[in-house]
Amino acid sequence: MGLYIILMGVQGSGKGTQAAYITQNYGGIPQISTGDLFRALKTRTDDFAKQIQETMAAGNLVSDDTTNKMVEERLQQLDAANGAIFDGFPRTPYQAEWLENYLAQKGEKIDAVILMELDLYDAFRRAFGRVSSSTGEGYNVYTGAEKLDIKWVEHPEKAFPPRLEASIKATGEKLVRRPDDAHADAIIKRIDIFRKTTQPLIDYFSGKGLVHVLKADQSVEAVSAEIKKILDAAK
Ligand code: AMP
Repeated sequence: MGLYIILMGVQGSGKGTQAAYITQNYGGIPQISTGDLFRALKTRTDDFAKQIQETMAAGNLVSDDTTNKMVEERLQQLDAANGAIFDGFPRTPYQAEWLENYLAQKGEKIDAVILMELDLYDAFRRAFGRVSSSTGEGYNVYTGAEKLDIKWVEHPEKAFPPRLEASIKATGEKLVRRPDDAHADAIIKRIDIFRKTTQPLIDYFSGKGLVHVLKADQSVEAVSAEIKKILDAAK
């Protein structure tokens, strides 16, 4: 039997970090982030990829069928033979039902749904303030300001709000944001969609006794320790 885990949490709740912890400690099962799968299409210029890029930039959800198909293809890869950690998926009850049916066909099931709870104000700051270096090292302009040079650049005609530019103080290296983190309104919309779409999923999985709620504003180690307890009991 494999190990299939759903990690839920508003963007910035630390899902990526905890998924890496699970991969390392539970047989190398991969993190499957539908957001990452969609972002990987950004180098493609065909209509399908362009449509997804536009949907993401507007902060909307990609259609269920397209999303399920992407996940199905990902689960067929060898590294997912013994399980997976779903991050950002399922986002709708339809996706949840599809996943359960898909796993059932393989004699598998969802072992745990872990909800990482984060105050929505913190969630906004974690997403809007997030910047990273060319090597992928992450910083935050709110919580890591002492290491950064931060500048607000006015739009020449003031047609748009000032743009935030950040670089590392020690090296001068310019930091970049994910395109979908640059727009405050898109982040707020994403948080709102998260709130609206999560509750039905929590209800759906609660009925099956699968949901575990964790406080995401603890230290990384404290959250990992709680996850370990949940997974060791679920196995
Ligand atoms: P994320 O990194 O999980 O916030 O995902 C970034 C964007 O990808 C979302 O705002 C959606 O546009 C799209 N996306 C990711 N996962 C899903 C999903 N399960 N269903 C629909 N759209 C998704």
